[in-house]
Amino acid sequence: EEGGRAARRPRVTVDSSKAKTSLEALKISLRQLRWREFPFGRRLPCDIYWHGVSFHDNDIFSGQVNKFPGMTEMVRKITLSRAVRTMQDLFPLEYNFYPRSWILPEEFPLFVAEVRMMKDSDPSWKPTFIVKPDGGCQGDGIYLIKDPSDIRLTGSIQSRPAVVQEYICKPLLVDKLKFDIRLYVLLKSLEPLEIYIAKDGLSRFCTEPYQEPTLKNLHQVFMHLTNYSLNIHSGNFIHSDSVNTGSKRTFSSILCRLSSRGADVKKLWSDIISLVIKTIIALTPELKVYYQSDIPAGKPGPTCFQILGFDILLMKNLKPMLLEVNANPSMRIEHEQELSPGVFENVPSPVDEEVKVAVIRDTLRLMDPHKKKRKDIQQHIESCKNNVNIRYNYFMCCRCQTLEQVSEASEELLDAGRADRLEYEASRSPEAGLPSLCLKQVFPKYAKQFNYLRLVDRVAALFIRFLGVKGTTKLGPTGFRTFIRNCKLSNSNFSMASVDILYIDITRRWNSMGIDHKESGMCLQAFVEAFFCLAQKKYKSLPLHEQVASLIDFCEYHLAALDEKRLVCGRG
Ligand code: ADP
Repeated sequence: EEGGRAARRPRVTVDSSKAKTSLEALKISLRQLRWREFPFGRRLPCDIYWHGVSFHDNDIFSGQVNKFPGMTEMVRKITLSRAVRTMQDLFPLEYNFYPRSWILPEEFPLFVAEVRMMKDSDPSWKPTFIVKPDGGCQGDGIYLIKDPSDIRLTGSIQSRPAVVQEYICKPLLVDKLKFDIRLYVLLKSLEPLEIYIAKDGLSRFCTEPYQEPTLKNLHQVFMHLTNYSLNIHSGNFIHSDSVNTGSKRTFSSILCRLSSRGADVKKLWSDIISLVIKTIIALTPELKVYYQSDIPAGKPGPTCFQILGFDILLMKNLKPMLLEVNANPSMRIEHEQELSPGVFENVPSPVDEEVKVAVIRDTLRLMDPHKKKRKDIQQHIESCKNNVNIRYNYFMCCRCQTLEQVSEASEELLDAGRADRLEYEASRSPEAGLPSLCLKQVFPKYAKQFNYLRLVDRVAALFIRFLGVKGTTKLGPTGFRTFIRNCKLSNSNFSMASVDILYIDITRRWNSMGIDHKESGMCLQAFVEAFFCLAQKKYKSLPLHEQVASLIDFCEYHLAALDEKRLVCGRG
């Protein structure tokens, strides 16, 4: 239907049958890209599956899906707090962008003790805390307290675990209002790690002028909580068609404002990029455990990518603080408006549409399966051109292994067997007319600055190696013993009996507070704790991150030697 050559190129196919509330924005994106949508699914496999909730919305065995297995679990308030805390233990300065947090109910005594200690050492410290139920969203069940004794430990909270967190009392205000930022981040790939950030996001405003928390105003949600879903019910909520006024604005409009006030906007962006990369580095180890469990290496399965919503609060001094990460950021491009008392209607929201359609469309452009094939072809042509021996035998060369992988898209082109035609097709952009990408790569672009933080990733690689049976997420006692033995960690000071005790102690404690009781055994976080314990024992006087790095090097060295030995024996 597009005529001529372009019509012969297969269009990218997208299954949108599970897109839920992101459907509207997805449809617009697909129209702009001229891709083929399958709103009711398709008998044949699609190139891309767009899920509204999770990886498991559909059973898929090929293509790409816009969710990672385990992401929803990973960004729950408790899991995220734990993952960030592990990183704070290793790198306290690098991870000071997340408020000090405690997990309830199990850390309640610790919370009480630590607050008392801090108050004793600094009597002028008058903190406020925010209690957030685990798994909650849209401000649901959140309340502020001045003292640990105000926690509602009775009733629902005990059955509903929560995180209690230091409340950031001095946020940056615009028009005297507190606001937060929703930034969209694309996790394009886990291995190798690839992260993109959208150049624009949304700012969500409170609807009551902000005052620092006092006993009198603690309960005023329109003053303290920036959730759109709460503030929309305030009489003061301002719907605006302009991106720089109203209760929901673009982040770029805020940056313009700040820049005109003389703020260092470049530094702010670089701090935000650093916060995003560090947060994802905290999440990747466990995500990899989920990934190998759902998509075991060597088995056919889809590859994954995911758009995440980062909620960030700017402090008065412009330091960005992470509030939370959303696995399913709202992609709705309309909002509810109360036309007359009790009568609601969905009306288009230009601000949402501008930001969200660009994020979805450009995510798809980055994931375009044909683009990858074209890139492969182009690379291949370059290498052919440089190779004198095959210059005159192009057709044969194109049947080589490298191009076999891209043969599907280029079959018709290969038949012609002419290099100039291939070159033409490979370089021809199907994206003419689209704006430049709104997503900016930050990793691996800045990998050099952050790779030293990826210690837990390497611990997770050890953990996964010893998981044994594919498809599990927990390590059994035999696996743990094999890990100790293969890495040569047991000696006269640390017998195998002590190894078993360490395993039992740590595993029992983690399982007693764990949310996931489906599998027995040691979860990754318990393994990380055991690993830190072993590192502290072996390298006593070093700072924790050096102890851990040294033990990882030690284990990796012994495992490489073992692999080498096995290889030699195998050959023999
Ligand atoms: P939910 O998932 O329910 O939206 P959040 O963690 O995003 O939970 O918190 C809801 C709102 O509470 C945030 O949008 C923010 O305005 C406010 N908030 C959360 N944590 C803090 C904090 N530590 N300091 C100040 N304000 C916070």
